[in-house]
Amino acid sequence: MARFVRRMPADFDPTARGWRVGELSGVEVRVDPSLLLIAALVTFSLAAGVLPREVPRTNGVFYWLFGAIAALIFILSILWHEMAHALMAIRYRIPVKRIVLHLFGGVAFIARDPERPAHEFWIAILGPLSSLALAFTFGALGQLPDLVGAVCRWLALINLTLAIFNLLPGFPLDGGRVLRAVLWHFGGSYRKATRQASRVGQAMAGLFVIFAALLFFNGFLFNALWFVLIAGFLYSTASLSYRMSLGGLPSAAPLFRVLRHNVPLIDARLPLALLVWRYLDHAPDQAFPVFQNGMLVGMITAEQVERVPRLEWGRVRVGEVMLPLNAFPILFLTEPLESAKAQLDAYNVDHAPVFAGDQFVGMVNRRDIVYRT
Ligand SMILES: [Zn+2]
Repeated sequence: MARFVRRMPADFDPTARGWRVGELSGVEVRVDPSLLLIAALVTFSLAAGVLPREVPRTNGVFYWLFGAIAALIFILSILWHEMAHALMAIRYRIPVKRIVLHLFGGVAFIARDPERPAHEFWIAILGPLSSLALAFTFGALGQLPDLVGAVCRWLALINLTLAIFNLLPGFPLDGGRVLRAVLWHFGGSYRKATRQASRVGQAMAGLFVIFAALLFFNGFLFNALWFVLIAGFLYSTASLSYRMSLGGLPSAAPLFRVLRHNVPLIDARLPLALLVWRYLDHAPDQAFPVFQNGMLVGMITAEQVERVPRLEWGRVRVGEVMLPLNAFPILFLTEPLESAKAQLDAYNVDHAPVFAGDQFVGMVNRRDIVYRT
């Protein structure tokens, strides 16, 4: 468990996670270890399900070989999608530092929002369009015989799914950015457009939760959990964008400068194993806010997890070991840095959640505050 206590350098960049695999047109490409799980899942589901059904009576080795090839091309398809965003951004002179491929797909870290709606529109829509182009190409290749054709048909379907999912109009999905660009173009206000597109994003998250519930009651536990995670991500990002678009906040809010606002919200019922695998391993020095029924109920860090024997991580849930609400301060965005530091000292903790009104907006940690006081 020593991996949790390793120290991060002061200039630690949280987006620089995973393994660096190379550079493409000046954009660094990284692969998160969680991608291996996806590769294994795809290979397995093709080799043990899809391929034997589509092309029966073939040597079993070929099912696995073609399953693995399909998994590799699938990952390259995600890179292709993100690369389309990145190249379009670079065309508009917006720097793109890196692309990280992970469990939920990929992220292109584009330095800032475009200054014109048309730029935003093209950067956002090029991703889904390029996935669509791949879907048609693989669809055409699906005419090929045997395993090659079967793999191409599967790749066509998965790229089509990727395109459609990303085109859903809720911000921060690609479709939400397209929506914002359109609203921005016709309404003239970037902030108002962000607000409207974020609201649609929140609604989309709600639909995902309903969908997750349907999956849950039909026995698809893992898929349901997956959709809840995506809904949580979507909702928190959309809500934050909404908050920030209300304006006036950043300059009047000292803590804003040190806020980590892309923090995942952890459900109190999440087993520790999932917390470690999905979040803690990527950010061993961070604390995560724990929510239940939309309310903050606690905070969890590596320290609490380490007290639980590793064999129990699958059974014990976050809510059972987290720091309860009375064990850490709750800060407000308007809090001066000195007072935030004093409160961390008083509770003897290194992290605290930050609110703007009754809305959770992110986390701060001692290191970031100390460097600025
Ligand atoms: Zn995209």
